[in-house]
Amino acid sequence: MELNETPRYIQVHTDDNVAIVVNAKGLPEGTVFDSGLTLKSYVPQGHKVALRDIGESEPIIRYGVTIGYAVSPIEKGTWIKESLVQLPEPPQLDELPIATNVPEALPPLEGYTFEGYLNDDGSVGTKNILGIVTSVQCVVGVLQFAVKRIKAELLPKYPNVDDVVMLNHSYGCGVAINAPEAVIPIRTLQNLATHPNFGGQAMFVGLGCEKLQPDRLTQNGDTSGIVSLQEHQGFLDMVRVIMEMAEQHLIALNQRKRVTCPVSGLVVGMQCGGSDAFSGVTANPAVGYATDLLVRAGATVLFSEVTEVRDAVHLLTPRAANEHVGRALIREMKWYDDYLRRGDADRSANPSPGNKKGGLANVVEKSLGSVAKSGSSPIVGVLAPGEKASQAGQPGLLFAATPASDFVCGTLQLASGMNVHVFTTGRGTPYGLAMAPVIKVATRTSLAQQWADLIDINAGRIATGDATIEDVGWEIFRFILDAASGRKKPWADHWGLHNDLALFNPAPLT
Ligand code: CA
Repeated sequence: MELNETPRYIQVHTDDNVAIVVNAKGLPEGTVFDSGLTLKSYVPQGHKVALRDIGESEPIIRYGVTIGYAVSPIEKGTWIKESLVQLPEPPQLDELPIATNVPEALPPLEGYTFEGYLNDDGSVGTKNILGIVTSVQCVVGVLQFAVKRIKAELLPKYPNVDDVVMLNHSYGCGVAINAPEAVIPIRTLQNLATHPNFGGQAMFVGLGCEKLQPDRLTQNGDTSGIVSLQEHQGFLDMVRVIMEMAEQHLIALNQRKRVTCPVSGLVVGMQCGGSDAFSGVTANPAVGYATDLLVRAGATVLFSEVTEVRDAVHLLTPRAANEHVGRALIREMKWYDDYLRRGDADRSANPSPGNKKGGLANVVEKSLGSVAKSGSSPIVGVLAPGEKASQAGQPGLLFAATPASDFVCGTLQLASGMNVHVFTTGRGTPYGLAMAPVIKVATRTSLAQQWADLIDINAGRIATGDATIEDVGWEIFRFILDAASGRKKPWADHWGLHNDLALFNPAPLT
């Protein structure tokens, strides 16, 4: 503890028998808090301290919910290490209350707009990108060569176009293309190709003999935007043809102009990665507040990460707008339970070692923090992995089922039409995506200071009392509108830090 620094802890709910330590360097044995609690052992930052004596097998309560049971007696004022917390059973999927506590729709929020690229299909771009979709990995070497030349020789001639982005992946051949679950990677690629930031101008590069023929990725089997390498006379001819087609698409994209659009043009994807015990009390609740503002202003908001929702699903099904939505939510949980079981994996594979170091004992504690991103609106729709948000038929809060893996979740949210991404991080990750702006929100001030040129918003101020959840929520909301309008670049775009796409393929390889 720094000299003169006030010792602080955060107790989220009045029923909680644990709290987390706020101070950056943790607190030593003998520390006395304003409440009178005295530490009987050292407690690191973000880790739990017992507020009362907890007997063996008694519940350990955080967020007002049982996150586990004490493996042995825990004395008031001591550090609750992960090994002292026994994981409870997950909520039974066939016993969940559905639509029993649907929140009132929040009052509309008027007067906000952003400057976006309006597309013919009604979607709105937040960037202006030439997207080049591959049907198979075999073409990537040639395409990378061509894209390097496109960026150097053509892109500077079309100043209204922001970037050229390759959709590189390892799907397309050597895969069980007709397996029932192949629908997920194929749908993902189809929907990425029509991403609003590509302005209806994506082009396609295929090999010729692959299982996933490129015309399965275009709209209505259109072949006019496809280059098929096996039709060409050697490498240089392939590059020439790709570059000629790219120039035609750049000419069209260069005509796009930003216009004032209603907030209903936004599809904002919420995600967390590298979580810690602060995620659920600072960054994620602030994101949840921004989610509510966005929904009130008419946007679509996606929250995802099935494995981090599964243990809190009993808190979500009551918020489903109706029985149909509630059933769809359970359907996605059940699909994932079966998927994990087939792989002989279980939910204890999450959290990661870094999450645990950050104070998260288990997936229940992580989940309770994770769902805070969903705010307090009714859940009006559920998307299977990679489905378009427009399929929900209305804006508002949607659950988009994805794995929690940062790159797979980001890729699937892009396929759903996400045009701005908000990413909360506690341990710290320099995550970014080429296809849409990514706004990073730190859970702790110490991370925001350590990574001042990577973190866009510091929600750690909530833990120290220097800002409220509402303050940071508004800050996130305004940053989203600025980033969507191209007025403000998040650090990931400033530095060009862009992670690879990662397709979710639950079907077999052959
Ligand atoms: Ca994640």
